[in-house]
Amino acid sequence: MHSVTTDTVLDRFRRAGALLEGHFRLTSGLHSPGFMQCALVLQHPSEAEACGLEIAARVRDLAPKVVLSPALGGIVIGQEVGRALGVRAIFAERQDGKLVLRRGFTLTPGERVLVVEDVVTTGGSTRETIEVARASGATVVGAAAIIDRSGGQQNLDVPFHALATVSLPTYEPETCPLCAAGQPVVKPGSRVS
Ligand SMILES: [Zn+2]
Repeated sequence: MHSVTTDTVLDRFRRAGALLEGHFRLTSGLHSPGFMQCALVLQHPSEAEACGLEIAARVRDLAPKVVLSPALGGIVIGQEVGRALGVRAIFAERQDGKLVLRRGFTLTPGERVLVVEDVVTTGGSTRETIEVARASGATVVGAAAIIDRSGGQQNLDVPFHALATVSLPTYEPETCPLCAAGQPVVKPGSRVS
């Protein structure tokens, strides 16, 4: 079907040193022994462009007219997907803890929106971004990410495409075996959902 498989995407992450092992606190609040630092792949414009083209190929049939991404993690890949589709790419960002459109970005009622993220873990920030679009009256036609690390359990109510699906364990802090073992927890320097 697609020439790009989970394995080829993960090879790309390995080459960039973007597959980290340790004890991480994700933005969702969950702890995990693994972290995927998309920024280390996307720092290479040719890699970012390739990921954007591959996502665009999977979502073109949804006919999005604008790409909306959550800052900061989604901005680079959102821009590349928008470029590949030939549509506008905008982003939502946090103000007083709430995700909102700023900088004069607007969506019009009925506008077909594709939500693009770098990594989806629980789907929380993707859902929040979908709500930002719906609050403007726009129609969310789908969501996409480079990595779905929920193992396919993101439970979104729109069509969802990821270039790679991986199953990395996540733990509530209270029941985290790495915490129980006394291993210090690290917050990676980037957003994950
Ligand atoms: Zn822990």
